[in-house]
Amino acid sequence: MTDIATPDTAGPGVRYAEVIGDPIAHSLSPVIHGFWLEQLGMTGAYRRCHVRPEQLADYVARRREDPLWLGCNVTIPHKLAILEHVADPGDIGCSIGAANTVARDAQGALFATNTDAGGFFAPLADQELAGRPVTVIGAGGAARAVLFALSKMNVGPVTILNRNTLKASMLLATFGLKGEALPLDAALHKAGLLVNASSLGMSGQPPLVLDLAPLPDDAVVYDLVYAPLVTDLIAAADDRGLAAIDGLEMLVGQAALAFELLFGAAPPRDHDEQLRELLVR
Ligand code: NAP
Repeated sequence: MTDIATPDTAGPGVRYAEVIGDPIAHSLSPVIHGFWLEQLGMTGAYRRCHVRPEQLADYVARRREDPLWLGCNVTIPHKLAILEHVADPGDIGCSIGAANTVARDAQGALFATNTDAGGFFAPLADQELAGRPVTVIGAGGAARAVLFALSKMNVGPVTILNRNTLKASMLLATFGLKGEALPLDAALHKAGLLVNASSLGMSGQPPLVLDLAPLPDDAVVYDLVYAPLVTDLIAAADDRGLAAIDGLEMLVGQAALAFELLFGAAPPRDHDEQLRELLVR
């Protein structure tokens, strides 16, 4: 791991990107991007950089002037604050409300974007969800990316189950979605897609207790939680024979979009199985 004052650890003349956050040691992004750089035989580096909130402005000022720096992924607690320092051409501050990637445009100017919504959508691209009801659990940062994607997908009514139902109602309005906000213990509707975008079921967090019985047999169950990889929700979906998508799909999907923006090349997605093995070690 590097800090903000050590821009040259990638090696002399080597272009690099990094992931910034506080804390940052847990981030899997260097494993993903490093794997793709190696597979493509590209010269470049991707590393972790510990940036505390009070260092963010200094970090951006230093890196902006570094011709070797290609950009960064941004994680907690900088996802909103970063928008004060770089351009936001897609107005994501007012929609998803958070950035996860900063890259350079053709003129070298810095801009922010969010690849979580695209990463969420990628594994659903082949599913027939038009007009079908969707249930989303959670109303935090990840849910915002999910709801943004759903607002572009022509799905049916969206039910959000959340501890704080007021927050969930406000998100439905923000994204112009028809639906309702209900407490976490409400019975599931006959949704075509069920998404867990809450922290429930994550290691160290309370379990997610759900009865999947009301879901139709062709429902898709998508858990954004990837630690553990096989959550109780994914296991319950498997038991019912429902299509299940785990959190690594979105994690790798959002990283793939960021990799193209940062390194200007498509990552080798035909090696996903090998990458997943590295990520679950
Ligand atoms: P966040 O902004 O902190 O939101 C957490 C959500 O979980 C909120 O809806 C919160 O409810 C709910 N929650 C937390 N603790 C709870 C509890 N004890 N009881 C009931 N509800 C509780 O977190 P986030 O960034 O959205 O992340 C949520 C999950 O998604 C995490 O597991 C994260 O790792 C995962 N994630 C995965 C990916 C991926 O690429 N696969 C990307 C982003 C996030 P309230 O609104 O009522 O507080």
